Amino acid sequence: MGYYVGVDLGATNLQAIVADSDGTRLGVDHRRTPRGPTGIDVTEGVLRSVRSACAGAGIEPTDVVAAGIGSIGPFDLAEGAVVDPANLPDSIDRIPLTGPLSKLIDSDRVWLHNDTTAGVIGERFHADRNPDSMVYLTISSGIGAGVCCDGEVLDGWDGNAGEVGHYVVDPAGRLTCGCGKDGHWEAYCSGNGIPRYAELLASDDPTLETALPLDEPDFSAADVFALAGEDPLADHVIEQVIHWNAIGLTNVIHAFSPIVVALGGAVVLHNEDILLEPLRERLGEMVMTNVPELRVTSLGDDVVVDGALASALTEGTGDRRYYRGG
Ligand SMILES: [Zn+2]
Repeated sequence: MGYYVGVDLGATNLQAIVADSDGTRLGVDHRRTPRGPTGIDVTEGVLRSVRSACAGAGIEPTDVVAAGIGSIGPFDLAEGAVVDPANLPDSIDRIPLTGPLSKLIDSDRVWLHNDTTAGVIGERFHADRNPDSMVYLTISSGIGAGVCCDGEVLDGWDGNAGEVGHYVVDPAGRLTCGCGKDGHWEAYCSGNGIPRYAELLASDDPTLETALPLDEPDFSAADVFALAGEDPLADHVIEQVIHWNAIGLTNVIHAFSPIVVALGGAVVLHNEDILLEPLRERLGEMVMTNVPELRVTSLGDDVVVDGALASALTEGTGDRRYYRGG
């Protein structure tokens, strides 16, 4: 019987899981992502994590027939490596992944995806009707999408398809994104963006009363959502965040015509009751084509690692027709 591996390589945490051909988890390893000093140290952290998950499952790495990796980018997809990752130390210039993992498991069946693409593969695999066109959208410290359109999981030539968090939503460009450009969706609506946006809206209308700790260094998006329904400025910020999210989502829907959009990421997972229903209403008003089902991921915080495993089980597609398990 063959075994399958899924890996989630984040800037902070690293997770590997081993499953049988039914997708049943047999071994898990969680650890901190090595901070270098070199990319090879991160590669070795991934290999150690996979070895540990295999040991937990009572198997050898060479018993694994296929593996999927959901990772922070950006990528050199031809070489199967992460190149100059933004949120790791500068001394890390290159993290080889596909080659070393292939060697460890002695199989060429290793698929590397960015984390949101792994997300859409997992959502597709686990969704009721295994849709050919769907989107996974994460709203966390940043915003990004994994897209499957007409059965094709979109990577782009360089692995950077789906960077929808950098859609321009504000033509006035009042806020500058973490990427250095102006007016991008995630500058307003990501976990990192919402506090800056609250400060901007407070300065636009100083008459709005607020208990938000605008001047505190640790002022966060969670502070804004915690005062929903109680604080005039917090409510105004949330209203505007929903508005910009509806614009971004409408653009995604008009581009890819998904039948399902699954939302994930900490901002959504912690505030589903505040965000989801108003977003559904706005999409009904703003989308001129078919309005997709909008729901929150059923995979929660494990969407990337489960997606990576689903990729291993389905030749990198999330398409259950490739699924050999029972
Ligand atoms: Zn940007």
